[in-house]
Amino acid sequence: MFSVKLAYRSLRRDGREEVSRLYNFFWRIKALPSAHVTTWRVIENKVASKVNLERRGIGIESNLCCFCRKLEESTNHLFFGCRVAWQIWNLCYDWLWLSSVDHNIPGSHFEHFKILDASTSVNLIMGNVWIALVSEIWRHRNNCLFKGGMVDHSDVFSLAQLKVWSWIVSKISALNFSFSPWYVCIRFNVLTFADNVGEGNRRFIMM
Ligand SMILES: [Zn+2]
Repeated sequence: MFSVKLAYRSLRRDGREEVSRLYNFFWRIKALPSAHVTTWRVIENKVASKVNLERRGIGIESNLCCFCRKLEESTNHLFFGCRVAWQIWNLCYDWLWLSSVDHNIPGSHFEHFKILDASTSVNLIMGNVWIALVSEIWRHRNNCLFKGGMVDHSDVFSLAQLKVWSWIVSKISALNFSFSPWYVCIRFNVLTFADNVGEGNRRFIMM
């Protein structure tokens, strides 16, 4: 059974006595543990993408991407390089009023998925958004692969929005806002809450 704590310990066992700045920040984000660990596996390229399965000698019918069915399904392609992934991320950039982050390597993409002039609290919520999107992409990929489902980039994005909103509302008792303002524009209507909530709640976000 996976847990954030076990994943963290495994990193240390791997000989990385000095946990990188990336992981120090990554593990401070409050997210559903299963989504947190899935995205950690993406950053580490340990997720069971078709290319990774082939490398492990596991026979598969086709190594083509479940979304576009044109290129090999590597971790980098599935989550960032694929045209479907690109459409999903672009919806997110529009929502956040961000310019595009063109990194195909998961760790670099995560590190650059921040608002430069924002506080740590705000960027921890950005981390929530990143984890929600990556974990939703993975969930939809598995749905395509194992249940023959079709991917709709706007569905993936909407479900990720809902996921982050529910995580935050369930964790921060003082926060009382509906999904509507969150859905319309995160940057001005919602992200600012991280700098305005009481100190106790801010500590919670920062944990
Ligand atoms: Zn693809």
